[in-house]
Amino acid sequence: MSMLFYPVIVILALWHAPQEAVRIHKEAIVVDGHNDLLMSVMHGENIENRRKAGHSDLVRLREGGVDVQVFSIWVPPDSKHDRGYTGYADEEIDSLDAILSRNRDRVEKVTNIVELQRCLKRGKLACLYGMEGGHPIGNRLENLYHFFERGVRSLGLTWNNSTSWATSARDEAAGKKGGLSSFGRKIVRAMDSLGMLIDISHLGPSAVKDVLAETRNPVIASHSSCDLLAHHYRNLTDDQLRAIARNGGVVMVNFYPRFLDSAVTKAEMQKLKRFAREWKVVAGKYNDNPTRLRKERITFLAARYPQVHATLRRVADHIDHVVLVAGIDHVGIGSDYDGISVAPLGLEDVTHLPELTAELLRRGYSEASIKKILGGNFIRVFSRVCVN
Ligand SMILES: [Zn+2]
Repeated sequence: MSMLFYPVIVILALWHAPQEAVRIHKEAIVVDGHNDLLMSVMHGENIENRRKAGHSDLVRLREGGVDVQVFSIWVPPDSKHDRGYTGYADEEIDSLDAILSRNRDRVEKVTNIVELQRCLKRGKLACLYGMEGGHPIGNRLENLYHFFERGVRSLGLTWNNSTSWATSARDEAAGKKGGLSSFGRKIVRAMDSLGMLIDISHLGPSAVKDVLAETRNPVIASHSSCDLLAHHYRNLTDDQLRAIARNGGVVMVNFYPRFLDSAVTKAEMQKLKRFAREWKVVAGKYNDNPTRLRKERITFLAARYPQVHATLRRVADHIDHVVLVAGIDHVGIGSDYDGISVAPLGLEDVTHLPELTAELLRRGYSEASIKKILGGNFIRVFSRVCVN
């Protein structure tokens, strides 16, 4: 081949890749394991139209090619509701139900594989209800049945705060012992017989071990990344990745920069140290309001030094790592959009998702493998577990 033609071929190849990626992305069943849009709803925002703020809304989810979205039902620890955590969660479900019923032409609530496939055939976004943190269950098994009746099909046993029957990753990292109590194990068995996905994201290592010993179903980690690439209590160690693979489950990679790249956390810690005195004054005002404190911390850090960014390529690195350690059948994506303060460069909002597919294609994944990563693996676990 004459060297003269070489640049022409390179240009064609560059054009070819994105088109091919867009086709694969369109054909694939794209599942996002975790989205916190409901938090914005609870703050009074309209997510039915395109918003300027945040990472997603019903319009942008479609533009990003998402076919199945797990919506997180999460109760802030400092929330005040006259029926406590349970009442707050019920209110969130009421709100999501109302949004879906107003938008029947484009979204549908699904609770099993038959409904999911029917919904996708109609060209609508399939919405799965996933509870993040078992606090609304309290110590009553009846509450688990109640939320199952309301359509909840996955439950993360804790958030950062532990329940009385399961210890969180944050608490275990701080030295708390426990894992699952006997009631926690009862919850796991009840979820198995109801046909509910057990979500181990946010659980501490001993609780994860206890879950894997107790359940007879494959589990999901709806939004967790790899500890070896970014050491953090929220990430999963290689041993855990292998254990989840043996269980037949799926690890859905989180996009939060601090879970992707230790350099981001390091830079933020340095900033807090450097501006410690100033931060103490700000933090002092919000000590009794953890939600506000988190927000203020983000604003404080962002205003004082350029952000250290994680990138789309780093998300793909985490996917690569799960594939390397656990295998191609055990990886997915769990963006955590609208629950994270910043998104990686290149994945600024959900409409950028096809670019992740393009990156996977560039890295040499086959079309079949990409389809497994984008959603096929989750669908396998969902159809095995959520049979009711
Ligand atoms: Zn979370």
